[in-house]
Amino acid sequence: MEVVCLDLEGVLVPEVWINVAERTGIEALRLTTRDIADYDELMTYRLGVLDKHGIGLHEIQSVIGELTPLDGAADFLDWLRPRFQVVILSDTFYEFAAPLMRQLAWPTLFCHRLQVEPDGRINGYKLRMPDQKRACVEAFRAVNFRTLAAGDSYNDMTMLGAADAGILFCPPANVVNNFPQFPVTRTYDELRGAFTNASERDIRG
Ligand SMILES: [Mg+2]
Repeated sequence: MEVVCLDLEGVLVPEVWINVAERTGIEALRLTTRDIADYDELMTYRLGVLDKHGIGLHEIQSVIGELTPLDGAADFLDWLRPRFQVVILSDTFYEFAAPLMRQLAWPTLFCHRLQVEPDGRINGYKLRMPDQKRACVEAFRAVNFRTLAAGDSYNDMTMLGAADAGILFCPPANVVNNFPQFPVTRTYDELRGAFTNASERDIRG
């Protein structure tokens, strides 16, 4: 049996923060890990912007509740799950992800938690550990799971590098240029093909 590790935003669901920016009209929230590679720097910046605009968890959850997974994402997961053990490794937060996970039939998700005050103000966040994506892939391999991984952004690169095979999915040009060692896929069909090629088992059919 092999494990497939997938990034969440940009691979299965839209970028949450970009949608929050669009629906709240706050341009400053548009930046993602594609723009600022240092996640702590990015999150500290985002929480400061939210605070300045008086936006708390409930407002963000109502925006996320209107989002749907990317077209084809649910079918893609349905294809993967009989063939691999699938784990989603994300730098999002359980508080944000729940409405989207419900629509994907609750796949396994390893991510982080927010620190929220009783009135909904988000006063911080708790990473389970730094660089959890890489650590998870290394842990799966340490217990003898061959591990494949796909992601789209800078915060996926150590995960892709630690995996037996790392695959880019719909990456921006700067990621492709900086990490030419990883094959690029741009549709779920191509990603299915890349996982089929990377698997050591015959998973066709
Ligand atoms: Mg992503």
